[in-house]
Amino acid sequence: MKKIIRADEMGFCMGVERAVSIVQAIADDKSENRAATLGPIIHNQQIVDKFAKQGIPAINSVDDIEQGKVVIRAHGIPLSEKRELEAKNIEIIDGTCPKVIASQKIVQKYSAQGYHIVIVGDRSHGEIKGLAGYAAEFDIIESAEEAKSLSIPVKTMVISQTTIKEREFESVCRVLLDSNPSIKIHNSICSATNDRQMAVRKLAQEVDAVIVIGGINSANTQRLYLTVKEMGKPCWHISGADEIPRELEPYDTIGLTAGASTPEWIIEEVENILKSI
Ligand code: SF4
Repeated sequence: MKKIIRADEMGFCMGVERAVSIVQAIADDKSENRAATLGPIIHNQQIVDKFAKQGIPAINSVDDIEQGKVVIRAHGIPLSEKRELEAKNIEIIDGTCPKVIASQKIVQKYSAQGYHIVIVGDRSHGEIKGLAGYAAEFDIIESAEEAKSLSIPVKTMVISQTTIKEREFESVCRVLLDSNPSIKIHNSICSATNDRQMAVRKLAQEVDAVIVIGGINSANTQRLYLTVKEMGKPCWHISGADEIPRELEPYDTIGLTAGASTPEWIIEEVENILKSI
């Protein structure tokens, strides 16, 4: 029988817990008119499918809804989309994580003061698209390499995606500071991400192999996987129990971690199957 060790910090973070509870409360309240979520409420397909079955589907765009109410996903939406919903008299239930709201407010404040905004993160991620929607002038960069070729005005504010690695953000900032020492820097990396990163590093030292559970589109889950890979430890990123790899068989002690949008029941399912191998 395999020995399973869980990471000290794993699974739902505060923002995800909050967004899921908001949608669950609507699903549970039979007197409520049903709502939709604008985009997936969190980066976890099982949760999105579960809510769709309970009558709360994820819609892709503001154009897909004409009446009723809509829940905004944990990673937020651009200001223009909020305005469009308001113009259509759609009731907005804000599931945006308070930490992401704080980042949006910072971008909005500096942008109103005439600052150019540089957002460091994954340009295809919903949080980044949302943040960019609060800036008048902005660039999105993903790496220090990209920062080298960026020409920025003197009045520039640099802000991070909540889920990027501290080291990546620092290396981008170093490059930008070289060309413009007067830039303002706002590190909005969420402690939930760092706590899980530190926990998985510790875990990887104690086990033979690591399983990272989480949605394929979940940025923080991918970071956990890459961290273990970089440490040279055998590691697999799976989204549920049906993806447990056969290659795990020779390893006796398995470490288990999960991204911030992975529900506990999926973690338990994986854990129980691993224990029974
Ligand atoms: S990772 Fe942090 S910023 Fe993102 S939803 Fe969770 S608590 Fe909020």
